[in-house]
Amino acid sequence: MFQSPDFNQLREQIKSATSADVEQALNATRLNLNDLAALISPAAEPYLQQMAARSSEITLARFGKTTQLYAPIYLSNYCTNRCVYCGFSADNRIKRKCLTLDEAEKEAMILHERGFQHILLVSGEAENAVDVEYMEAIALRLRNKFAAVSIEIQPLSTEHYQRLFLAGITAVAVYQETYDRDMYKRVHLSGKKSDFDYRLETPARVAEAGMREVGIGALLGLSDWRAEGLAIGHHLNWLRKTFWSTAFTVSFPRMRPATGEFEPLEIVTESNLSQLIFALRLFDQDVGLIVSTREEARYRDGMLKLGPTRYSAGSCTAPGGYGDSDSEAEQFSVGDHRSLQEVSTMIREKGYDPVYKDWDSSFQITTS
Ligand code: SF4
Repeated sequence: MFQSPDFNQLREQIKSATSADVEQALNATRLNLNDLAALISPAAEPYLQQMAARSSEITLARFGKTTQLYAPIYLSNYCTNRCVYCGFSADNRIKRKCLTLDEAEKEAMILHERGFQHILLVSGEAENAVDVEYMEAIALRLRNKFAAVSIEIQPLSTEHYQRLFLAGITAVAVYQETYDRDMYKRVHLSGKKSDFDYRLETPARVAEAGMREVGIGALLGLSDWRAEGLAIGHHLNWLRKTFWSTAFTVSFPRMRPATGEFEPLEIVTESNLSQLIFALRLFDQDVGLIVSTREEARYRDGMLKLGPTRYSAGSCTAPGGYGDSDSEAEQFSVGDHRSLQEVSTMIREKGYDPVYKDWDSSFQITTS
């Protein structure tokens, strides 16, 4: 199983990088973890323009002039965990809701009518609200209506992921939130999520189950973003070597305001976020890089072509929020409020194609 390196050692390694290390990384054709450490370091900050240009070149060569688009559907905001940074935490007195299968399907069809072909089903972590049977049932209802259905729910066993794969789920995202073990303990007060190692092993269980794509990431704002980036590099490296036929994505959620008024413990600026995205693109040329509607429209527009390959659009983070907007029950507030059409227009104006569909569920059904 993957062993996460000591977070303080990652910090030290990054701190010791010099401009010579950065230049070597910028000129390398295949980058190793030392190169990644150099590109994430403060020594790389004066090279941001060069990193952006290289990242843009690689992304164009590997992914073409495209940006994939998807939207999340929040199924439930019940949660048995107490994560101090999240609006859905069991501690928060918010209006709780779990969509029935009919309600979930209705939300999905609203997005379908808006043109979405790729949806991400999200829920808080409460097995008594959303369990594997519920997910299986909703996947079976949606798999012939959408090209790709991904999930972001509580970690499951390999067997449960296999069941969901057979039901039509194509990808699973499970973020470690922070690879800093001490910080992890401080911000995950109770519930199953407080088990750092079980969560860390989840992407491997997803890949073992045969899922087409696995998403990893850290919630930026909890600990040192540079060390988080290097830890992600280690994790990705290990997953790639162990599950060579699986596709991987990395997300970069920066902390947003949420019920509970938690303030980020570390400030991650837009420039920091860009450096991290460029560094990971140079390190792993084929990894999907996702920038969600947490970020402002201005930032997302500027980053198009430079490294990210997938954007969410027209997102609502409250269960049932597409049919009946209710911001009280949101997980966090979004930064880019534009519709799918508006985001697509922006992408086209920049000479790229918005991609709604890059997969067909019939591939999966015939191979299952
Ligand atoms: S981050 Fe996830 S597990 Fe933690 S409280 Fe929020 S919904 Fe629950």
